[in-house]
Amino acid sequence: MDKLKKHMQELCDKINQASLSYYVYDNPIISDKQWDALYSELLDLEEKTGIVLDNSPSQKVGGDALDKFTKVKHISRLYSLDKAQSVQEIEDWITRNNNILNFDPVFTIEYKFDGLPIAVFYKDGKLVQALTRGNGEVGEDVTTQAKTIRTLPLTIGIKNPIVVQGEVIMKLSELDKFNKNNPEEPLKNARNAAAGALRNLDPKVTASRNLDFFAYNVNYSEGVLFATQKDIHDFLVKENFLVEKFYNIVTNIKQIDDIIKDQDKLRHSLDFLIDGLVIKVNDKKVQEELGNTAKFPRSMLAYKFDAEETSTKLLDITWQVGRTGKLTPVAELEPTELCGVTVKRATLNNYNDILRKQVKIGDNVFIRRSNEVIPEILAVAQSFKDSITIKKPELCPVCRTALTETLANLYCPNHMGCSKQIIARLTHFASRNTMNIEGLSVKTIELLHNKFNLVTFADLYKLTKEQLLTLDGFKDKKAQNIIDSLVKSKKPSLASFIYALGIDGVGQKMAKTLAAQFKTIEALKSATVDELDSLPDIAEITATDIYEYFKDEFNLNQINELLNIGVIPYVEDISSINSELSGKKVVLTGALLDFSRNDATAYLEKLGAIVSSSVSKSTYLVIVGEDAGSKLTKAQDLNIKIMDENEFKNLLKKHNLIK
Ligand SMILES: [Zn+2]
Repeated sequence: MDKLKKHMQELCDKINQASLSYYVYDNPIISDKQWDALYSELLDLEEKTGIVLDNSPSQKVGGDALDKFTKVKHISRLYSLDKAQSVQEIEDWITRNNNILNFDPVFTIEYKFDGLPIAVFYKDGKLVQALTRGNGEVGEDVTTQAKTIRTLPLTIGIKNPIVVQGEVIMKLSELDKFNKNNPEEPLKNARNAAAGALRNLDPKVTASRNLDFFAYNVNYSEGVLFATQKDIHDFLVKENFLVEKFYNIVTNIKQIDDIIKDQDKLRHSLDFLIDGLVIKVNDKKVQEELGNTAKFPRSMLAYKFDAEETSTKLLDITWQVGRTGKLTPVAELEPTELCGVTVKRATLNNYNDILRKQVKIGDNVFIRRSNEVIPEILAVAQSFKDSITIKKPELCPVCRTALTETLANLYCPNHMGCSKQIIARLTHFASRNTMNIEGLSVKTIELLHNKFNLVTFADLYKLTKEQLLTLDGFKDKKAQNIIDSLVKSKKPSLASFIYALGIDGVGQKMAKTLAAQFKTIEALKSATVDELDSLPDIAEITATDIYEYFKDEFNLNQINELLNIGVIPYVEDISSINSELSGKKVVLTGALLDFSRNDATAYLEKLGAIVSSSVSKSTYLVIVGEDAGSKLTKAQDLNIKIMDENEFKNLLKKHNLIK
């Protein structure tokens, strides 16, 4: 027994140390998966022995509040939730509750956000206080910081004192944007970034991080009674809180199982982190009667997905050369399982990233899979005496040219002779979303480059049918197709042309913005950094990259060559028709049968409408497809005009946009 007790003490100490580092200092020293493993081992032992040690983390519901913020007692305790990791455990939970109280099995099911939970107190319709959860009874006062969150309403419609509970998160797209602008000191992950920003003493810093607040509960209310959990959800929608549209009512375990399976797949495509689903008894009276254990409300349960982090050994680093000559370090890993996939490689963004994370070959490293297909190295888990420092490469691994260095990246400057970057550049130029030259796969381009020394974009247009016919497997028709396609590609839209150039950071959407703004390639060439930087959705570093691109002689020559051989980009007609929607805000929701979301948006813009993604009082019209969710409900609540797909079609017909 003593030996067991000693082991339990060790577990407690380990978890406490890890929790302190994680919750209080935003500095994880073990992965979630390891933490969960330790914690459930401890819970098992406590149950088996009946012993709960004095400092056992199972007695707490969260981390201690920080000293630098004022500690404030919560009006109503914020419970953490009991956890389940299998459908069986959910079924057991339902059975357990049914043994206490016989009730209709109606549950709500929603996302479990992976952010920072806070409680927001409103009085007389005004936001008066925001507290972090802290230990559930006492939290930190982050009112000034929270007020900067763009999706947290400062006022609401009802005067009664009320506490809204929700999660502060940083969207992955925001994290991306931030890291692009701060390549020297990128933020590790969205959850730590959100916590770090909200707990920053300077609210200006909080504001600059573009956090969001997802509301999911009313934790306390005077005089405002809700009969069901769904009523609370509807209330939050009505009061303009950011409420996730994924929200379901379920009545049996089969439905819950189906949703879990779907969401486990879908979660990687979300713009924010979730680590599970929350299931709540819908009836508030039943919730009350079921009551709480010492730690959890009996009426709510968190289902947790398998952790997305693990650790493995870093075997080596290889440097890949991209189309702009940029070198990217790719980590070769000892194969490991992560989310049911065998992972062998992970990215490190650039050499500075290696320095910052102090990664060495032979180290054990934490890897995390977010939406990227390739996982990322988060940090070193354990370093060893014989781990090897990663040297900064001095020569290009492909062409042995001396590398150049900018802010955060290493480049091979040999645009004319570095085969990897030439092949990548030409492949991007010819691809479907750019110049759309059929038949030029990466393999064909590699063959052509090796045989005829193709280097510039214009070299593609100098290809002859005779040359193509010398390639293995090329017959008359295949060669002729490429020649025809090259001729056809000479009249690209300006947006496709700009995208085809392959400028760092300029994707398809950015290329469209640049085309609409500058109208000609000449105007874009002479744009200043300030002009570029003032465009919507552009990162400062991208503005600089675009500016630098058009200062480079090789790039300018390439473009001139193209123009000289008759490649003429045209500007798409984006002028709009004068219609009843001109200047009005329109929201699309649900699935339309005959239009993709992009096409429907394009038609609406043609009609002069401003297409937006969320319904508010200023929305003029909501166009509703199949399976429309909370946006439809909200539109109905706000008495906003609603149009179905047929009516939308009639409108387009009226303006001769479709037949
Ligand atoms: Zn090179």
